Amino acid sequence: MSKPCTPAGQVIIVSGPSGAGKSTLVRTLLKRCDLPIVLSVSATTRPPRAGEREGVDYHFLSQEEFQKRRLAGEFLEEKEVFGRGDWYGTLASEVTAGLSAGKWVLLEIDVQGAMSVLPVYPDAATFFVHSGTLEELEKRLRDRRSETEASIQRRLEVARGEMDYLTQYRYTIVNETIDEAADEMCRILQSLGEQG
Ligand code: 5GP
Repeated sequence: MSKPCTPAGQVIIVSGPSGAGKSTLVRTLLKRCDLPIVLSVSATTRPPRAGEREGVDYHFLSQEEFQKRRLAGEFLEEKEVFGRGDWYGTLASEVTAGLSAGKWVLLEIDVQGAMSVLPVYPDAATFFVHSGTLEELEKRLRDRRSETEASIQRRLEVARGEMDYLTQYRYTIVNETIDEAADEMCRILQSLGEQG
């Protein structure tokens, strides 16, 4: 996958264990941070959760459509998550469109996805967001009340594995208070912007 010729913006990657509050943190960052940040909307084959909207939370694709676009090389990275047949991926067009418009393009993707994107965008600002302990993560997943026990166990197992990647990220954010975590991310991004 090649980079666009003249990217004016910068790529931001946010990863971390499922349930660490990444999505809420990212939404808060967009509200509170005075930078032209746009979200890369991932594609997925998993069904929408209550309240999720097409083109906003994800591009919800059928298996067939996802695999067709994958074979056509439209993804910057893609993978099957949690071994239950659900695919997730970043469409290259989501990133290039934002960058060429001079925006900061934020990708909320898992650690393997991040490792695939980094060789393409080595200057990306990478953030690993976690909520402290695995016990706290389990509590958040249970409080969400949308997961089956098997799904919770799978996500915890993935989280244990993901914590091993923490050192691969430039910045670590402990998401204790959403507003503070968002402001910390914003300060880091602003200082990167000032460095040019
Ligand atoms: P969820 O089903 O809870 O929305 O997301 C499950 C996991 O998939 C999360 O860890 C999320 O970061 C990851 N994910 C979402 N979009 C992408 C993507 O485009 N690429 C990859 N590799 N992972 C993604």
